[in-house]
Amino acid sequence: MNEILLRHRDIKDIGQLSVYREHEGFDAFKRAVTGMKPDEVTEMVKASGLRGRGGAGFSTGMKWSFIDKNAWPHYVVVNADESEPGTFKDREIMESNPFQFLEGVMLCAYAVGAHTAYIYLRGEFWELAAYLDACIAELEKEGLLGDGLFGGEYSLRIHTHLGAGAYICGEETALLESLEGKLGQPRLRPPFPPSFGLYGKPTIVNNVETLANVPLIVQKGVDWFRGFGTEKSPGTKVFSLSGNVVKPGNYELPLGTTFRELIYTHGGGITDGRAIKAIMPAGASSSLIVADDKALDTPMDYESVPSVGAMLGSASIIVVDESVSMDWLINKTMHFFQHESCGKCTPCREGTYWMRHLTERIHHNQATWDDVILLQDVASNVKGKCLCALGDFSTEAVISSITRFRGDFETKVGMPISAPADAELKEVSN
Ligand code: SF4
Repeated sequence: MNEILLRHRDIKDIGQLSVYREHEGFDAFKRAVTGMKPDEVTEMVKASGLRGRGGAGFSTGMKWSFIDKNAWPHYVVVNADESEPGTFKDREIMESNPFQFLEGVMLCAYAVGAHTAYIYLRGEFWELAAYLDACIAELEKEGLLGDGLFGGEYSLRIHTHLGAGAYICGEETALLESLEGKLGQPRLRPPFPPSFGLYGKPTIVNNVETLANVPLIVQKGVDWFRGFGTEKSPGTKVFSLSGNVVKPGNYELPLGTTFRELIYTHGGGITDGRAIKAIMPAGASSSLIVADDKALDTPMDYESVPSVGAMLGSASIIVVDESVSMDWLINKTMHFFQHESCGKCTPCREGTYWMRHLTERIHHNQATWDDVILLQDVASNVKGKCLCALGDFSTEAVISSITRFRGDFETKVGMPISAPADAELKEVSN
């Protein structure tokens, strides 16, 4: 399969504007601005079945159609914060295929009637921001961005904006707060950004990978796009593969490819010939799946992954081999989530502190089985009780590992394989 989003791997120098244009680059944007109504672009994206690649998997065209047409101006904001541990796909797209990504931003802006778009990048991407600024300047020089495009009335400006490197700013409302110059903390929803977004105006927030699909959908058509992936999850996906695999990296494959194919055929299998133990399909915020045959043969799409007890999310596949004990792994994730909790709501602020503290105790052989039960109790009191998804995310690895890899914890705290009845773990939905 030829790459769609990682086209730089097939087409040398596609990151140069002249080469991108030789490969029909910006034809879709020109066609849209000169010959299509904005709603026609939205309908086309809706018909393609493209789903947001940032994690939620919501219909992109549907989201665009929610933009409030009774309030103006409209904005497009690109979520290029990419801070999920294990995720490194957007960076490659922006660095190596920048004009396809920018054309996607431009098509989105045209479709929703926005004349200003912002690309919000995580603080560590400062070199990438400078590179995108240079690409944007080149587009303005070539007359592809700016005022009165293609002799018509449509005008568009794109600006980059660097965050300070806080994970929470990948949450779309915290991102908007940060972009407005405030503390990066989530807003209570509703209202949602398509009606109340940047500066209180209707705003579409989309992920980098999502938008990079759009030029080829407009250029090659809905049927072509639907020729990849599954009926409910069409298209390809860039899977960021990391952990105990021989060949970590980004792999663009049709949605619906199995974990087994990604890990063993493309990723070269497990390092040092060890056995696979678990998979985290959505980075650090993911539940841990027991890597048995059923899980390995599960198609990686938005419908199938929940059947083995996790979400596809951003598809940052972290592979865990048999040498890893889960107490170590959840201690690592809790360090991350405690550090990144923005502190706005009590269950997350206090819960992540206590979960880190307890995982620390367990990992350093200072815990009893009661600590494991207490850890699970704290996690179940955080889950579902927070303002934003970070609170839930912080509990996923903890709850799933205690439930599905109980033996690791029993060994760690010196318990027999079957704990006494009064020390049983509660059932916590995962
Ligand atoms: S859940 Fe955590 S990160 Fe989200 S608003 Fe509450 S304290 Fe902040």
